[in-house]
Amino acid sequence: MAWDFSTEPEFQETLDWMREFVDEEILPIEPIAEELTLDQLRAITTPLQAEVQKRGLWAAHLDPELGGQGMGQLKLGLMHEILGRSVYAPSVFGNQAPDSGNAELIAIGATEEQKEKWLWPLLDGKIHSSFSMTEPHVAGSDPTAIICRAERDGDEWVINGEKWFASNADVADIIVLMAVTNPEAQPHRRAGMLIVPKGTPGMTIKHKPGTMSHPQHGPLDGRGGNHCHLLFENARIPADNLIGQPGDGFVLAQKRLGGGRIHHAMRLIGVCHRAFDAMRERLVSRTSHGKRLSEHQMMQDMVAKSAVEIETARLLTLKAAWTMDHSGASNSRAEIAMIKYWSAKVAMNVLDRAIQIYGSLGYTTDLPLEGMYRSARALRIADGADEIHKVTIAKHFLRDAEPVEGWPTEHIPTRREDSLRKFADLIELHTENL
Ligand SMILES: Cc1cc2nc3c(=O)[nH]c(=O)nc-3n(C[C@H](O)[C@H](O)[C@H](O)COP(=O)(O)OP(=O)(O)OC[C@H]3O[C@@H](n4cnc5c(N)ncnc54)[C@H](O)[C@@H]3O)c2cc1C
Repeated sequence: MAWDFSTEPEFQETLDWMREFVDEEILPIEPIAEELTLDQLRAITTPLQAEVQKRGLWAAHLDPELGGQGMGQLKLGLMHEILGRSVYAPSVFGNQAPDSGNAELIAIGATEEQKEKWLWPLLDGKIHSSFSMTEPHVAGSDPTAIICRAERDGDEWVINGEKWFASNADVADIIVLMAVTNPEAQPHRRAGMLIVPKGTPGMTIKHKPGTMSHPQHGPLDGRGGNHCHLLFENARIPADNLIGQPGDGFVLAQKRLGGGRIHHAMRLIGVCHRAFDAMRERLVSRTSHGKRLSEHQMMQDMVAKSAVEIETARLLTLKAAWTMDHSGASNSRAEIAMIKYWSAKVAMNVLDRAIQIYGSLGYTTDLPLEGMYRSARALRIADGADEIHKVTIAKHFLRDAEPVEGWPTEHIPTRREDSLRKFADLIELHTENL
């Protein structure tokens, strides 16, 4: 019977190496990151990236023909659990968002010429990208409503409209833009996916809002969120910059999201492990009212709840990864929706408890917990708001529910009558023998 929760010893060695590498080489970047220029940061991360490449772990989410490992989602999930320990780890391992998802999208839909131009440089880390689907004036939760328009004019596309929250758009060399190419088509065939190069005349950054994770602009610009409000006014790009066919936008966007949500969820579990370790350390180190914090039952309640929530989120996410490996992305939609929603909720719970346990110190920027809390909050909205994923989950579980006339199936008086009929002979026999 195949029901195995173990990790192959050989792969466990890889994970052990990753864990040590992240903790020893990448976590030390965090306390000084804000003081560094981008060049200084790159001087630190470039040799680390080389080490990852040497080990064959660079961009491991990709298929082998694209220079990845073709590992499957389960192994990738376990790797992302470790990468979640530091915000700087994904870029050292060549799978930082949005470049990783954009590379997958381009790999699926691009011609050889397009791959040459954008995919290989993206995979080598030589160029950076942004993904732009959301708009300011229509609900991002319903992308069939997008209005930003790309019209064909000779051998060019002319783009007009506004986009919102295009992460990294100000530092990206290319923007993967979803715009309406076929306004009269069915809702899911209206949009196409286009590559807009940096500096395209007619494309401007109108605004770059501060966010919970980066409330102010400062030295972090260029490696923080950089969620841009973009304006397109008769921006012209070559006709060859369309990925796939006009109307392929939704198909390509969907492919980009499946595995990415598993990676998001496992990175959140990695965040939880770190907060949980910090929580345990404090509980056994500090005393209040004559005993260790760890001996107060309300503190124990926080540990127990956190342990159970982390473990359930972890197993659910690995199950989603396993299902995706065995049955494909379209048969894993409910599992993926469950973990996208649940992992963000668990991360919020665990980080909140860790901050509470540290009291005033937890509330300060002297510990990373408050920053982790503010950053993790995004995941209840980004990549599909919680509510959208809950709708997917509910639809999945309701689709084969059978309506019933009259009393519900569980109605005990009705079931009692059925049971009396079912066992009538045996009951009668036993009564006669009395
Ligand atoms: C950190 C971060 C990074 C992002 N990066 C990018 C990016 O790089 N590129 C990009 O294109 N977008 C990006 N986004 C945008 C993200 O995709 C959208 O925020 C998301 O799809 C929600 O769209 P919205 O913000 O327009 O909210 P809306 O769609 O207006 O929804 C607001 C709220 O309404 C409720 N709601 C909406 N629809 C329903 C429904 N059907 N049922 C029940 N409740 C509903 C939910 O509570 C939802 O949170 C990013 C967002 C964040 C926070």
